[in-house]
Amino acid sequence: MNLFELENKVILITGGGGVLGGQMAKYLLSNGATVIILDYKDDIVNSALDSLNKISKKVDGFVCNVLEEKSLQEVSDKIIKKFNKIDVLINAAGGNMPGATIGVDQTIFDVNIEHFKKVVDLNLFGSILPALVFGKEMVKNNKGVIINISSMTAQSAVTRVVGYSASKAAIDNFTKWLSTELALKFGEGLRVNAIAPGFFIGNQNRDLLINKETGAYTDRGNTIIQNTPMKRFGEEEELNGTIHFLCTEASKFVTGVVIPIDGGFSAFSGV
Ligand code: NAD
Repeated sequence: MNLFELENKVILITGGGGVLGGQMAKYLLSNGATVIILDYKDDIVNSALDSLNKISKKVDGFVCNVLEEKSLQEVSDKIIKKFNKIDVLINAAGGNMPGATIGVDQTIFDVNIEHFKKVVDLNLFGSILPALVFGKEMVKNNKGVIINISSMTAQSAVTRVVGYSASKAAIDNFTKWLSTELALKFGEGLRVNAIAPGFFIGNQNRDLLINKETGAYTDRGNTIIQNTPMKRFGEEEELNGTIHFLCTEASKFVTGVVIPIDGGFSAFSGV
C-alpha cells in the first residue's frame, strides 16, 4: 500500500486562487490528485484555472464566498454531483486588513474594531463554515480530512497584527475541537489538522517585510530572520511535504495537531 497515494483523492482548496492555496493546488495536481479550487471572484477562479489546466485536466473551480453558507452549500451539491465525494478540504482562504494591524506610530487603542471583526470573520468563520458544509459530506462516507491554516501569530504575540493573531489562535482551538468531536462521534476516518506556516512572503505581508522602494528587508523582516534558526524566509513549496502527509494515509493516526513549518522560529526563544 502506498501511504502517500493521492491519485484517487478529490481535494478541495478554498482560496485556491491565492498564493499558498494556488501553489498547493499545483503540487497536488502534479502528483495525481483531483483538485477543486474555490475563490470568491470570477476572474480569480478563471485565471487560476488557466494556469492549473496546463498541469493536469483533473482540475475544476467554482466561485464561492466562504462566508456564505448558501454559496458553500450550492457548491457542495455541484461537487458531489460531479465528483461523488470530497476526500480533503484545505481551508486556505484567509487574510488581513490594514485597520486590524497596529501602524508603526499607533498603539492598540487605534485599532479599527470593524476591521478586526472582518479579519476574525474571514479567518475563523471562513474556515468553520466550509468545515461544516463539506464535513457533512465526509461524514456520510465516514472518511475525510480537513486541513486549516494557522500561523506563527497564534501561539505568541507577533507585534502589530492583533486581529489576525486572535483569528489564528481561534483556528488552533477549532482544529483541536473539531478533530475531537469528529473522531469521537463519527470515528477515526475523520481527521482535522492544521499547518502553521512561518514567514513566507505573500500578498498580505509583503509590505511589512520588504521595503517597496529599495527591495531590502524592513526592520521587521530583519528581526524575523534573526529569530529564525534557519536564517531565511520560507519558500511556498516547502509547505507541500507536510500538506501531502496530512492529506494521505501516511498521517492516518494524526488528528488535532498544528504543525509549524517555520525554519525553527517557534522553537527558538530568541536568545
Ligand atoms: P492570498 O491573499 O494570496 O490568498 C487568499 C485567497 O483567499 C485569495 O485568492 C482570496 O481571493 C481568497 N479569499 C478571500 N476572501 C475570500 C472569501 N470570502 N471567499 C473565498 N475566497 C476568499 O493569501 P495567502 O498568503 O495565500 O494565505 C493563505 C492562508 O495562509 C491565509 O489563511 C493566511 O492567513 C495563511 N498564512 C499565510 C502566510 C504567508 O506568509 N503567506 C503565513 C501564515 C499563514
